[in-house]
Amino acid sequence: MINVLFATLPVRWEQYETPLKEAFETAGLDVDLRTKFAPEEVDYIVYAPNSEVQDFTPYTRCKAVLNLWAGVENVVGNTTLTQPLARMVDPGMTRGMVEFVVGHVMRHHLGMDLHIKGQDGVWRDHVPPLAQDRRVTVLGLGELGLACAQGLAGMGFPVTGWSRRQKSANGITCLSGDNGLATALSTADALVLLLPKTPATENLLNHERLAQMPKGAFIVNPGRGELIDDAALLAALDTGHIAHATLDVFRNEPLPKENPFWAHPSVTVTPHIASETRARTASQVIAENIQRGETGAPFLHLVDRTAGY
Ligand code: NAP
Repeated sequence: MINVLFATLPVRWEQYETPLKEAFETAGLDVDLRTKFAPEEVDYIVYAPNSEVQDFTPYTRCKAVLNLWAGVENVVGNTTLTQPLARMVDPGMTRGMVEFVVGHVMRHHLGMDLHIKGQDGVWRDHVPPLAQDRRVTVLGLGELGLACAQGLAGMGFPVTGWSRRQKSANGITCLSGDNGLATALSTADALVLLLPKTPATENLLNHERLAQMPKGAFIVNPGRGELIDDAALLAALDTGHIAHATLDVFRNEPLPKENPFWAHPSVTVTPHIASETRARTASQVIAENIQRGETGAPFLHLVDRTAGY
C-alpha cells in the first residue's frame, strides 16, 4: 500500500478525491489517499504551497512532493524540503492558458473594445490589420509559453519567443540572453509574459525595457505580478506608450481595492483566472509520477531548485 497525503486547502479535496482515486486505479497503484497521516507514514505528498504543511522534516519516508501548481516560488526555497519536488504540468491547464492568451491578444488585436463599448451611433469603420501584420513576443517558452506561442503563430501572428536557454521551435523566432530580450521587446506589438517568478525575473519589465517596446504596444501578463515593475507600467500607460495591459496576476492577491490598476482606463484586471490545474488531467500526471517513483524511473517535471523553477 502506498500512502499519499493530499496536502492542500480543504476545498480541493472535493474536487480531487474521485479523479485521483480513479487515476491511481487505472495506473494499477494500490494507494491509500488521505488528508491526514502520521508524517512518518507518508510515501508521497500531493501538495499546494498554501496548505498547512510547511515543515517537511517529519516526512522521513516521503519519496517526492508533487505540486498541484505550475508555479513553485512559494515552496522552492523551503529549506526543510529535501525530497524531490515536481511541479504541475497539466495538459488541461496548458489548454486553458492558450485559450486565455489567444482570446486576450485577439481582443486587442481586433480592437473589440471600440465596438463593445462604443454603441453610440458612431460608424467607426476602421478595419483591423491582419494577424500577419502584428508582431507578438512571448517571454518564457516553457510548457505554457511555447503552447501559447504556437497557438498565436497558428492564428497567423509572427511570433518571437524568449527563454533562458536557447530553444528552437517550428514557426517561432526563438531568442535568449540580454540581446535577445532587447530584440524581442523592440518587436513586441503585443507582449505575453509567461515566465516564472524567480530572483532573475523579478521586475524584468522595468522602465527601461518598457521603453524598448514599440509605442502603442499592449501587454498580457498571466505569468506573475512580480515580473513587472508596477510603477513603471502605470507611467508607460499614462503616457500612452503602452496602449493597454491585461493583468491576471499581481504582487498582492486578491488585488486590493485601492490599487490603481483597478481604475486605470488602460488596464484590464482579471482575478488570477487565466488557467488552473484541472483535476482530471492533473490526477493522471500525479499517478504517472507515483508509478515512476515506485518503479525507480525518473520523476517527470522536477523543479531545478537552483534556477528556482
Ligand atoms: P516552465 O515550463 O518552467 O517555463 C518557464 C519558461 O521561462 C522557460 O522557457 C524558461 O526558460 C523561462 N525562464 C525562466 N527564467 C528565465 C530567465 N531568467 N530568463 C529568461 N527566461 C527564463 O513554466 P510554465 O509551466 O510555462 O509556467 C510559467 C509560469 O506561468 C508559472 O511559473 C506561473 O508563474 C505562471 N502560471 C500562471 C497561471 C495563471 O492562471 N495566471 C497558471 C499557471 C501558471 P528555459 O526554457 O530556458 O528553462
